[in-house]
Amino acid sequence: MVSIKDVNFKGKKVLIRVDFNVPLNHNRQIMDDTRIRESLPTIMKVLNDGGTVILMSHLGRPNGYEPDYSLTPIVPLLSKLLGRNVIFTRDLFGPKTYEVCGKMKPGEVALLENLRFYPEEEAGDEKFAQDLAKLADIYINDAFATSHRKHTSVATIVKYFGDNAYFGLLLENEIQNLDKVLYEAEPPFTAIIGGAKVSTKIGVIKNLLNKVDNMIIGGGMAFTFIKALGGKVGDSIIEDDKIDLARSIIQEVMLKGVNLYLPTDAVIANGFSNEADTQTVSADSIPDGWMGLDIGPKTRRRFAEIITHSQTILWNGPMGVFEMENFRQGTKSIAIAVASATISGSFSLVGGGDSVAAINQYNLADQMSYVSTGGGAMLEYLEGKELPGIAAIRKKNTETAKTTKSNKKKA
Ligand code: AMP
Repeated sequence: MVSIKDVNFKGKKVLIRVDFNVPLNHNRQIMDDTRIRESLPTIMKVLNDGGTVILMSHLGRPNGYEPDYSLTPIVPLLSKLLGRNVIFTRDLFGPKTYEVCGKMKPGEVALLENLRFYPEEEAGDEKFAQDLAKLADIYINDAFATSHRKHTSVATIVKYFGDNAYFGLLLENEIQNLDKVLYEAEPPFTAIIGGAKVSTKIGVIKNLLNKVDNMIIGGGMAFTFIKALGGKVGDSIIEDDKIDLARSIIQEVMLKGVNLYLPTDAVIANGFSNEADTQTVSADSIPDGWMGLDIGPKTRRRFAEIITHSQTILWNGPMGVFEMENFRQGTKSIAIAVASATISGSFSLVGGGDSVAAINQYNLADQMSYVSTGGGAMLEYLEGKELPGIAAIRKKNTETAKTTKSNKKKA
């Protein structure tokens, strides 16, 4: 793969697909600017080389043009972070945008309006791709969190740049770190999978069974497994149509010699509320009228012990309803165990909105080896799928490498 670290962008116009899909409050103030900050290394690389930067992104899920989803709130912050003026264009392909982008000089930065104001963006539209491609000489995709979509600005557009399509530094980093756990994991390798439902993580669990030594399953999804093993789960969250699937995973685990760890005790409540009565019971003996909302203390200790003895750790999904004070101990103990294993030299990768929110809540993000910016994109990558936004650029690079090789042979 050609890295942009080895490309000189001097005098080039570069269209960068970033992910500025940041959370805004009702006053349209940015609540978390992580995604903007994470795109800075790629932008600065192009600017420092003497290139011109044209940025494009989506924000939220607008239905056509909706002013509340405009990217305008990003402009002042981005200007401040880059230490230079940022030109904002309200029309994507109007004469104004072409005129403004056409006149841009090296070192200048422009931000285009929300791509999703145009239904063509999500449709993978060819004409839309061509119109966007006309704005620049070179294309960079740095939006990992959107790269699992077949959208125009991450997938369709790539072919209109010939060999001039690259991964940005953030995307390159994501791929390297995810590949490290998928293909170069040092044993013992432990995956910790949590969250509400089995159905959203099934692909990841199946793919990881070929790679891990230990599979820890917590959160709401554990109850489908516990029920599949004949346990009594009361009113806990269950996917009845996934019980057979859970059974077949348990069989696969045994065939592959993977150690499967399920909760043995649970913090249960008589309502889905922080105010509900709670007690700790065996995870397979939950009375009717009660639901398991967190892993219990014995399970926390057991899971932490497995994690501390692992060389490679992958974590996605909370162990309980960590949004409520009374049910966050499980997730917190996992966060601490992963952090302490990392301090002792293990490699840890954490991803998924809730797990990342949890480690941020405990100020532990810096203690992890890598925190992925992709939710759905990361899960699909871990399932072993080729993400459209990544495949499009990889294909281009492979074709280029092949042509260069055969040209060399001819010469
Ligand atoms: P996911 O998006 O699948 O990773 O699920 C995250 C959600 O799972 C969080 O909002 C948690 O509150 C929820 N969750 C975790 N454990 C449980 C549980 N035992 N019962 C119900 N919801 C849970």
